[in-house]
Amino acid sequence: MANQVKDRKVVEIPASIAVRELAAKLGVSPVDLMKALIANGIMASITQSVDFDTAAIVAEDFGVTLLEEGAAERLAADGLAAPDEAPALDVEPEVPGVPWYIVDEPEEALEVRPPVVTIMGHVDHGKTTLLDAIRDTKVAAGESGGITQHIGAYTVTRDGQRITFIDTPGHEAFTAMRARGARATDIAVIVVAANDGVMPQTREAVDHARAAGVPMIVAVNKVDLEGAKPDRVSEQMAEIGVVPDAWGGDTFFVPLSALTGEGLPELLDAILLVAEETPPLGNPSRPAMGTVLEGLMDPQKGVLATLLVQTGTLRVGDTVVVGHEFGRARALFDEAGGRVQEAEPSMPIVVMGLPSVPDAGARFIVVRNDKEAKAVIGIREDEVRSSAQAVVSPVMTLEELFARATAGEAQSLNLVVKVDVQGSLEPVVKSLERLAGEIGVTILHAATGDISESDINLAAASEAVVIGFRVSPDGPARRAATARNVEVREYDVIYKLVEDIQDALTGMLEPIYEDQAIGQAEVRQVFGITKVGRIAGCAVVRGIVRRNATARVLRDGEEIGRSTVSSLKRFTEDVREVREGFECGIGLSNFDDFAEGDILEFVVRERVR
Ligand code: GDP
Repeated sequence: MANQVKDRKVVEIPASIAVRELAAKLGVSPVDLMKALIANGIMASITQSVDFDTAAIVAEDFGVTLLEEGAAERLAADGLAAPDEAPALDVEPEVPGVPWYIVDEPEEALEVRPPVVTIMGHVDHGKTTLLDAIRDTKVAAGESGGITQHIGAYTVTRDGQRITFIDTPGHEAFTAMRARGARATDIAVIVVAANDGVMPQTREAVDHARAAGVPMIVAVNKVDLEGAKPDRVSEQMAEIGVVPDAWGGDTFFVPLSALTGEGLPELLDAILLVAEETPPLGNPSRPAMGTVLEGLMDPQKGVLATLLVQTGTLRVGDTVVVGHEFGRARALFDEAGGRVQEAEPSMPIVVMGLPSVPDAGARFIVVRNDKEAKAVIGIREDEVRSSAQAVVSPVMTLEELFARATAGEAQSLNLVVKVDVQGSLEPVVKSLERLAGEIGVTILHAATGDISESDINLAAASEAVVIGFRVSPDGPARRAATARNVEVREYDVIYKLVEDIQDALTGMLEPIYEDQAIGQAEVRQVFGITKVGRIAGCAVVRGIVRRNATARVLRDGEEIGRSTVSSLKRFTEDVREVREGFECGIGLSNFDDFAEGDILEFVVRERVR
């Protein structure tokens, strides 16, 4: 429905629209539209959707004004006063300590699986050499019988126990995957060259591993060199809070040489020890779920994707859903290139048969058949449509963070802080830390230098806001910030920065929210779930249930509990909302004493000022 207002074209579009359709509405070629999107920092393919706001910005470039189709009527019909200002996250906030792929597993089904390790550290400290050396131990041990190919990960055996190494070293790749929702790594090995000591990217790697809650092991590399000072590495690491086991801390430091192979067995032993302390879990007897490590188009075999199976067993013939596509696992290859019939938890495996090259960091799940695959994809597409945030994922603004904190969903305000010079670092960090009141302030990473893409990914993966003090994001960071909707706030005087955050903090702590009922669900069945507690299988009987809502649990008309929604699922899919007439599984943060027949009344907090 296009019409002319004065000399501008005005076009109505839905809250979310595919690039192809938007191009048609604007009367431009899809390629020109994609170029305009890229110029605005949005990477979207022709079939992907963009949200209304993004569409409106690029439409301006073509001299077209956009209106959102029926937004007002829809809201009125929902009985809602204002649009949902805080869309739920694409990257599901983790239940602390419980990865997404086992959240729904009954405890008794879980078995210990091999640890998955990522190697991180400063450039030239020996990450690649170490990965190669560990891979060679396998060839030396005659383990796989063949030469391992680079498929994105490999597995070695030590004392009959397997360890999987992710073959892309560095915290940038690690956090980029996390920002896409992947939790592939169980243990991080931080490589520090003993002749060079702790360097900026060492600190960064430590902060990124810490933000992910992944245990660390320090590989003190290059001890074969004359100038090697392993003790200095221990001291410097202790200064940043990574205290060696030998000094009473909780981190193993392993002196080694990736070049000579000295110390490698001890590193593998340390990994197995850490894995023993916090055993990684999976359920081998369910359909597989996990993370895409890499993908490529092979001229002969078509799409080949390396998948890391995290729970379940992947078998030849399985139907695999990745994103909005699915395909049949026509053949599986191990890292030696040999055909295998199945892959167990923690095993990297190359799959042939996906319809297109998937993104590294995307999650995959196996479903029973095409029908189920289409149902899952349908739900995902509904989600995209029902959300104004189609391409971009988490919106993490300072306001949103405080709102979550005040609603009891977050204990702390996460910040990534970048400053211009070393001399600014301490005063900025100190003044921010001093602001912590009822809500803690957690500085995930503080360093000098421009705001980088990896800072943005860290913020996206850890629901943080980025603060730049006399520094700005570089080009890739700016694009990543737009694409992931990470808030970057830039300051050039400390008092302004402090004042701003303090204002927001105190402003938010005042009672300026009011509850508004949005829907009701009736508990039909109760399930027990590992580490999460009990989940209510519900039917939505009125209105709408949203993941960012708070539930009042009513039994015989009396409120017996009240808590925020910790999980909302249809089948195995996390969803943002479920409408009247549909069934869903609901988990609450601090309440699980559900009984059949309970009514859950959902309220959202509306800002009244
Ligand atoms: P990355 O950037 O961390 O992946 O580092 P590389 O693995 O590329 O190693 C950087 C340089 O350090 C290369 O020239 C390696 O040969 C050298 N190197 C790595 N490990 C050792 C070691 O244990 N001893 C010595 N002497 N050199 C090493």
